[in-house]
Amino acid sequence: MAITGIKGFNDILPNEVEKWHHIESAARRVFELYGFSEIRIPVLEKTELFSRSIGDATDIVEKEMYSFTDKGENRVTMRPEGTAGVMRSFIEHKLYAGDQVSKLYYLGPMFRYERPQKGRYRQFHQIGVELVGVDDPMADAQVLTMLQHFFAELGLHEPTLQINSLGCPECRPSYRQKLRDFLLERLERLCDDCKRRYENNPLRALDCKAAGCREATVDAPSVLDNLCSGCADHFEKTQNYLRVNGTPYEINARMVRGLDYYTRTTFELVTGLLGAQSAVAAGGRYDSLIEQLGGPSLPGIGFAMGVERVVLLLNQDDFRKSPDLFIAFLGEAARKEAFRLMCALQQEGISVEIDYEGKSLKSQMRRADKFNSRFTLILGEDELRKGTASLKDMDKGVQVDVPLVPEKIVSMVQSA
Ligand code: ATP
Ligand code: MG
Repeated sequence: MAITGIKGFNDILPNEVEKWHHIESAARRVFELYGFSEIRIPVLEKTELFSRSIGDATDIVEKEMYSFTDKGENRVTMRPEGTAGVMRSFIEHKLYAGDQVSKLYYLGPMFRYERPQKGRYRQFHQIGVELVGVDDPMADAQVLTMLQHFFAELGLHEPTLQINSLGCPECRPSYRQKLRDFLLERLERLCDDCKRRYENNPLRALDCKAAGCREATVDAPSVLDNLCSGCADHFEKTQNYLRVNGTPYEINARMVRGLDYYTRTTFELVTGLLGAQSAVAAGGRYDSLIEQLGGPSLPGIGFAMGVERVVLLLNQDDFRKSPDLFIAFLGEAARKEAFRLMCALQQEGISVEIDYEGKSLKSQMRRADKFNSRFTLILGEDELRKGTASLKDMDKGVQVDVPLVPEKIVSMVQSA
């Protein structure tokens, strides 16, 4: 019996991969416009990195991590997200030494042990950015604007930007206590998960999907009414900046986010098209994370998008590429010449396809049709004797004789 892949670990097949290239190149183009540089970090990190940054009482650390002990008895984890590793690297290589402000982006696979379903996998991919070293709300607004710019670049205008503020170490503890007092009287109505999280992570009850939790928390105190003056001011200014450049957004005071390191601004880009997997991108500010990981006291803000979910939103489009030219040939002498021309043209930057079997002209033309190339070059025995071939422009339907000189063919194809 043939061996199959592991559930939740997907192959990305040739036709599909064109969409990935499209998304990745749009990300590189847009993020680099805003001054972000790529950073590549390893898949495997010490487990401690994630428990210390994401938080022990979060879903990710509690139940979703691919952790194991390696042959050297080290506890290691396949990264469930990118920010922790990027910050570990940032600190380790003192990236803050040259310039106080760092703008980084990354892309690659992440691993979480979740129940696989549409838009939710065990190996998935994120593209993320981190802007470190600025606490001014201008940074928040810029990151949000860039996120929307990226989606607009892909022609996706449907996802809505929702923002919230989770406060800071000064105001969040008192809000947490207030919320716990409120939940204590309603504990019986909460789902088992929220009951369990009541002690360590009571805020999760606010964004729980269970009907009982929703009803029980309708009148819960809002985090936005309980911000300290610094956080309230930051949130107000972030919104002012967004209004200045016309970036549309909604406020969602129940958005909690599943990672402990967030402070102040948090956000999600939400779609109505993917069922329960509604967040295509999410992020927020993490002003204490770098210090918490043993680095300098520098603030940061970032987001990560789920590439599979973006791909699902792009589903209608066909990104398949066609070759520039298809070469058909008749007879053995023409076959050799076709091979010589094909290699020479490819080295000049023209993409070329051929029918390796070289059966009848009819079957070669069928293959040319399948490739949907812009040009077809037909090499027959008579033409070969004259040192020419006929080049057909499939869009315009015109056919001309061309000399068997690669440079001439290149210039005709490129000038089309
Ligand atoms: P969700 O609420 O859907 O579980 P999350 O809050 O766990 O998302 P983050 O940790 O903020 O997600 O990750 C950022 C983005 O990565 C998400 O918005 C989503 O697009 C994507 N993502 C997260 N988990 C998965 C997964 N298991 N499969 C595919 N994409 C994912
Ligand atoms: Mg999740």
